[in-house]
Amino acid sequence: MKLIKIIGHLLIFLFLTALTQVGGIIWCITCFVSYKYSKRKRIVFPLIYLVFNLMIVPPIAKFLGRERLPVLNSQLRPRNITYPLLFRNYVKPELNDLLKNTAKRLTTYDITITYLDANFPFLDGFPLLPHLSHNDGKKIDISFMYMTNKGNKTNKKPSVSGYGIYVEKENPTANDCINKGYLQYDFTKYLSLENKSNLKFDPENTKTLILELLKAANSEKLFIEPYLKDQLGLNAYSKIRFHGCQAVRHDDHIHFQIK
Ligand SMILES: [Zn+2]
Repeated sequence: MKLIKIIGHLLIFLFLTALTQVGGIIWCITCFVSYKYSKRKRIVFPLIYLVFNLMIVPPIAKFLGRERLPVLNSQLRPRNITYPLLFRNYVKPELNDLLKNTAKRLTTYDITITYLDANFPFLDGFPLLPHLSHNDGKKIDISFMYMTNKGNKTNKKPSVSGYGIYVEKENPTANDCINKGYLQYDFTKYLSLENKSNLKFDPENTKTLILELLKAANSEKLFIEPYLKDQLGLNAYSKIRFHGCQAVRHDDHIHFQIK
């Protein structure tokens, strides 16, 4: 029985660490506190988790070189509260500044930057799964722009998670990658949690968003699916690249990274 308990704790630790980086440590502290003060874990865990999320991790991460992206800012915000809650919205200060400045410029166009997965608070080389490259504070995923079925500009998004609603259901690169055996290439379709909003992809404002991101001198690369680069008339931009078949489809979001 004791062994099963230990294995159970280990699995919880690994799961929380993979999902949130610091959640596993919070679980260990929870076990200690609930044992010492005879309190239930289901009460202790959420309390300690929130204290870490809001008060303890942000200043330590800042001291060690990463900042939390804004959560309640109307110009730059997460797709939903899960991203900050799971410690998945940390970046280097340079990327934070770049995004804030870009978001300020984009207010002229009524465009809000909606971010998805960024990086964890600590440790270069620690990947934010399933994105292997989001491991140094320099990477971020950003939502496309959409319009209503009447053609009006909106900052709403069709996917609850931010991932998995593709501009075209099929595209040549995705078919090619899947045929080559990269079966993970379109697995994000299982993560969308689609809301029935009838929103359509907005090429013009997505292009504006992309070009504003690339204006910064320290912008390095931006990934979108090759057919979209073509469709948006962005072929002249060498910073916009194909991410390769080992990644996932990028016709549901933008991946952006700095030098
Ligand atoms: Zn990415």
